Amino acid sequence: MKRQLMLLFLVAISLTVFAQEKPYFQQDVAYKIDVTLNDSKHEVYGDIEITYKNNSPDVLDKIYMHLWPNAYQNGTALAKQFLRNKETDMYYAEADKLGEITNLDFKVDGTKVTWAYDEKHKDIAVLTLAKALQPGGTVTISTPFLVDIPASFSRLGHVGESYQMTQWYPKPAVYDRFGWHPMPYLNMGEFFSEFGSFDVKITLPSNYVVGATGVLQNKEEIEFLEKKVKWTNEVIEAEEFGESTKNDSFPGSTDQLKTIQYKAENVHDFAWFADKRFYVQKSQVTLKSGAKVDTWTMYTDYEADIWAKAIDYVDRSILYYSDRVGEYPYPHATAVQSALSAGGGMEYPMITVIGPSGTGKSLDNVITHEVGHNWFYGILGSNERDYPWMDEGMNSYYESDYMAKYYGKGGLDIGIPDQALGILDAKGLDLEQTAYVWQARQMNQQPMNTTSDELTMINYQLSAYSIPSMMFKYLEMYLGTKEFDRIAQKYYDDWKFKHPYPADVKAHFEKESGKDLSWFFDEFFNTRKTIDYALGSVNIDGNTAKITVSNRGDITAPVVISVVKDTTISTYWFDGFEGKTTLEVPAIEGATYAIDNDGDMLEINRRNNFQKTPVKAKFLVGLENPKKKTLYFAPTLGYNAYDGFMLGLGFYNRVFPAKNFEFAFTPMYGFNSGTVAGLGDFKYHINSENGIFRTTTLGVNVRSFNEFENTESDYFRRYAIINPSVRFELRRQDISPTKQFITLGYKNINDEIANFNPADFTFTNKENRQRNILEAKYELKRSTAFNKSSIELSVLGESYERAQASFQSSYIRTTLEATHSIFYAKNKRKSFDIRLFAGGFPFYNRGRAGGSFPLTLTSQGYNDWFYDDFYFGRSENSGFLSKQINLGNGGFKVPIYESPTDVPDGLLVNDPDNDYGETNSFVMTMNLKADLPMNLPLNIPIKPYLDFGVFDHKISGELEFVYNGGIALDLFDGILGVYFPLFGTEALMSQQPNFGSRISFNLDLNRLNGFEALRNISM
Ligand SMILES: [Zn+2]
Repeated sequence: MKRQLMLLFLVAISLTVFAQEKPYFQQDVAYKIDVTLNDSKHEVYGDIEITYKNNSPDVLDKIYMHLWPNAYQNGTALAKQFLRNKETDMYYAEADKLGEITNLDFKVDGTKVTWAYDEKHKDIAVLTLAKALQPGGTVTISTPFLVDIPASFSRLGHVGESYQMTQWYPKPAVYDRFGWHPMPYLNMGEFFSEFGSFDVKITLPSNYVVGATGVLQNKEEIEFLEKKVKWTNEVIEAEEFGESTKNDSFPGSTDQLKTIQYKAENVHDFAWFADKRFYVQKSQVTLKSGAKVDTWTMYTDYEADIWAKAIDYVDRSILYYSDRVGEYPYPHATAVQSALSAGGGMEYPMITVIGPSGTGKSLDNVITHEVGHNWFYGILGSNERDYPWMDEGMNSYYESDYMAKYYGKGGLDIGIPDQALGILDAKGLDLEQTAYVWQARQMNQQPMNTTSDELTMINYQLSAYSIPSMMFKYLEMYLGTKEFDRIAQKYYDDWKFKHPYPADVKAHFEKESGKDLSWFFDEFFNTRKTIDYALGSVNIDGNTAKITVSNRGDITAPVVISVVKDTTISTYWFDGFEGKTTLEVPAIEGATYAIDNDGDMLEINRRNNFQKTPVKAKFLVGLENPKKKTLYFAPTLGYNAYDGFMLGLGFYNRVFPAKNFEFAFTPMYGFNSGTVAGLGDFKYHINSENGIFRTTTLGVNVRSFNEFENTESDYFRRYAIINPSVRFELRRQDISPTKQFITLGYKNINDEIANFNPADFTFTNKENRQRNILEAKYELKRSTAFNKSSIELSVLGESYERAQASFQSSYIRTTLEATHSIFYAKNKRKSFDIRLFAGGFPFYNRGRAGGSFPLTLTSQGYNDWFYDDFYFGRSENSGFLSKQINLGNGGFKVPIYESPTDVPDGLLVNDPDNDYGETNSFVMTMNLKADLPMNLPLNIPIKPYLDFGVFDHKISGELEFVYNGGIALDLFDGILGVYFPLFGTEALMSQQPNFGSRISFNLDLNRLNGFEALRNISM
């Protein structure tokens, strides 16, 4: 108790210490690096000398040093993040593909210094200074080092003799007014570095072409590059790009070495790229001030056809950003094409590296984005790890604007032709907005101010890039483009070559605009709160349109009223407000009025932004179109043995992205039964940012089909279920691989029983039987890079009456199902699956022999007592349809039938005397299944399986051991399976006369439900 209190006290003290913000300062770092590339061992070795100046008001007794090549080892933060994102390449890589930094021998001012690896991260070291570094003082840190270059898993790496030398040398962590910022290297998550200067010498075989941060100092090397430029221009003119180097073959390295030198000022990183195959192009742009910037591209034959134009993209992006944000301050900008395993491109000061692009437009997009990082990362050096929106988001905002300017709006290049999107009704729909809404409606979005390693993979894309980009567009439209540019340009001027924080951006924008922007920087960027305004009535009063607007969101963000005649003819922005208010805009003859007709705001619901439109019926599925209320329909086809073929219409409002209220309703006409059958599903999702449940779903599922046909007496029996339920998803960390659910449900089952004349057994009439079932269920689902598992615990109670047999019965049933699949091969395609099932009846007033709804070894149509699954022939006891099973209950695969009975249909659902494997007291089984380690011809998915267990035999009253094994044909991830039982205990195998009749199949139609599948995609 005391210790805890002490701890809390210390935390409180340290928080107050931090709360007292220090004045701004930044450290100064000057690097001298001299290295040699050994391209047969894939190593870089040499020496580094860092002159570190302490500009802080603090005395420093230690210095944190990043050793990021050490990340390419197992057990590191990088390795863990890869596994969390289910990327196993590095985990399974051979040892010689990993990387590290060695030969370290740190000295401070020439004297050996005590240093150690950080306890948690071996890609961070702590140097303990023998003599503390005083404010204003300078120390020189030096060490030899050797980088064993890893294969291309992330940013630093090599593919053959193509080298990407990034995050490669010992580098001090940032020390600023908030303290030290040591950070392990991550693939998803970037960096934070001190500004300074670099003087780098690289020795390597003389036929390498090198692109690097900084200005090349050697005359011979400049001539070498000029020759490459000349040669490249000749190749382009003759259209002679070769095919030879597309297969990773490299020209031999010359014995002769060269030493090239680069110098750079006002940068916080240094990267270089070396490849003997590079073509080189060169150009130059003149900025408004008259300053000239050399531009370069370096690329191989791979995509050379589109790279031949890339120099124009570099030129154009330098001019665009210089114009809109502030002038490019460096002497050159270079784009190199290279193998890269961390996204489509990566930025370094003055140089960007670009991976495979596919098209010229997409290459332009990536080059522009990466070149743009010279501003948002390079010049404005924010803490990218903790606030990725400050570089990625602001940069994406400008990049999107560039793309819209040169390629038109909707300039997202996602590889889907526009016509295909047309079919999906994507008119006026922005894909990034849709992705945000998709996440936010399920409350899966995460605040912008979330550190990179706590964002899920999809949210890293959304919270770091897309959402802040759209929010800055929102801010631009609200403030006006001119005013926004003025403020952003001043931000650039005030903060260039510095370390701005989110609070600095906010303070700057608020001071310059004179507006309270807490809706933007605090509420939207710090929480999961969403924005939604709804349009009410529109009244024209003379020359004024009076429009009632309600704020249905959580944030008082600004709102725009659009005056629309086909397209928007004018817009009026209003500051945010709570509740309902009337906004006035000039009335225009024949115009309509809408909230944000053009999608400049980022709302969670745009469907309430427009004056009422009639409901429109729409064929097939579509993306949500906010301007239209749409009811979707599609023809549906069904079949079961009693209704026969069924044809009907499915009506649904479910579109992409998911809505809070969703329904699907599918009435169908059965051509055999001559009656209507079908199903309906209604769901309402409630999300909550607080409390133990993140999502609560209220649902009602209804189903009615025929389940038996008596052709002799000419009647059908049918069933109908109504199943209301409430399902809670428990709160979890966003990046947690575990999801938990609790479901409470009630099932009313209404099935028909046929009555007979006791004298001659002729059919007289049908009567309804009511069953009422309550169920509570707990589910856990977990999925990692190595395995997938689930637990389902259910308690179910039922009370039922059986009029004919004149008894009343009630019972409580509990079941536990646990599954665990171990991926035993590198590609995750092969697994060993274990399932454990245990079930029993803690209470059953009919006793162990007499219960009507026993647990079973094999799940089939006749024993699907609760109508959980879909069967083509529920009551079939012979023929193909009778072979349909499900993998519930004991999970056995041998079909067990109702024993033939001379009692007419309806008197008894099952014959209590036999029915092997049924139990009213206890059953426990284990089901094993595995992929074969080798690949069969045509990749036939054959899996051996083994089922075994014990059950309480209801006749003998003894526990009976039972097993069965065989071969499964497992298709579509288990949705369709065919089972060939080969051996098993006699009592089980003798349930069927021969091998052929023991073969069974399962078709899991529940898992074919596309909408559910979409909703359950783990993001
Ligand atoms: Zn970026």
